[in-house]
Amino acid sequence: MRFVIVGGGIAGTTAAEELRRRDPDASITLVSEEIHPLYSRVLLPHYLKGKVPRERVFLKKPEWYAEQRIEWLPGISVRNLDVTNRFVSLSDGREREYDRLLIASGGEPRVLPEDRRGVCYLQTLDDADHILQLIHEGVSGRAVVYGSGFIACEFAELFSHYGILFDVACRGDRFWPKALDEGSWEIIRTKLEVEGVEVRTGVEEFPLGGENLVGVGIGLEGNFGWAREAGVDVNQGVKTDEFLQTNVPGVFAAGDVAEFMDLAVGRQRLVGNWMNAQMQGRAVAANMAGENKPLRLVSSYSTNALGIQVTFVGDASREKSDEVRVIGDAREGVIQLFGRGGKLVGATLVGRVKERQAVTDLLKAGGRISDFLRT
Ligand SMILES: Cc1cc2nc3c(=O)[nH]c(=O)nc-3n(C[C@H](O)[C@H](O)[C@H](O)COP(=O)(O)OP(=O)(O)OC[C@H]3O[C@@H](n4cnc5c(N)ncnc54)[C@H](O)[C@@H]3O)c2cc1C
Repeated sequence: MRFVIVGGGIAGTTAAEELRRRDPDASITLVSEEIHPLYSRVLLPHYLKGKVPRERVFLKKPEWYAEQRIEWLPGISVRNLDVTNRFVSLSDGREREYDRLLIASGGEPRVLPEDRRGVCYLQTLDDADHILQLIHEGVSGRAVVYGSGFIACEFAELFSHYGILFDVACRGDRFWPKALDEGSWEIIRTKLEVEGVEVRTGVEEFPLGGENLVGVGIGLEGNFGWAREAGVDVNQGVKTDEFLQTNVPGVFAAGDVAEFMDLAVGRQRLVGNWMNAQMQGRAVAANMAGENKPLRLVSSYSTNALGIQVTFVGDASREKSDEVRVIGDAREGVIQLFGRGGKLVGATLVGRVKERQAVTDLLKAGGRISDFLRT
């Protein structure tokens, strides 16, 4: 069996490892646009703050791929897919035939139309090296964080760590506008303002003024035009069923790029976190090897906004819910519980953490919002 995997992040590398474990004779090719062996994106903020040395960010050594008999193609990208003859064309002109193809190409940061010195993104190790270089060269005046999600929070934490004064500009009226209610946002905004950060909302077009450091975190975009052109069904991500299989026979998707049928919450959606990408990498390998087992996982993700813990469990979308209950206030922290069709499907917790496990357990058990309110 010939397996080709597009993307050497945690989803693609886990899949490659699992395929080798299951099939010692398989041919496995891992095409990886980045030149580095697998590293942890989760550790990048810690590396940036000097808490983890650069070498500890790596999760695999270059020789691991050869030891596993995985054909690793670093610095190479897939450009075209031919689903009739089952092969991909690579950026260096080579081709690879497959029996099963995995799209694990993650996402790329949305960029500002204008690029100039001082504008930085935080998605890759190279981005992190670039940010450190800018910080060490010295920052004059106030920096700006442009965005309203996880990466914006990472930039806020980072600038604060280095004592860099900064303001925040976001497109919507709050951080995570699709998930947080006014009360949850109030907790974060108050904390930012107490720390001397001016928060500007509704900034659709970012004016690049004289700031010499701009941390941009305005979301990710899928990098899968080549798959769409070949007839793979895509929306915001590459659409899959609960087996992580696309509409094209033999083609699968996993990790940040997959808009998969999430059985835990009952709808097709994108999930962008490490645990999800790793578990999907493992599950998709099993299915590519012929197992046909659906994945059911309740995913959750936490981050810090200048010391305020923000946690998302399951499907934390106000828009996609038909029931929302809010518990708590600015003093004790706010929980929002999201329901659909009578069932709990997700939650956000801002400024409180101790209920995270209870919410996750209830969601796993297929409970209702009222079950949580009774506890
Ligand atoms: C700074 C930062 C901090 C984070 N912190 C956390 C955290 O604390 N907790 C958490 O759960 N999650 C965190 N995340 C999110 C988590 O890291 C991601 O969800 C996870 O890494 C996604 O893995 P992936 O393998 O799906 O995609 P990626 O890691 O994006 O890997 C995809 C790879 O495919 C490559 N690629 C793209 N197109 C092609 C192509 N055509 N050909 C070949 N290769 C291609 C890309 O270059 C990339 O290397 C963080 C992310 C970042 C950036």
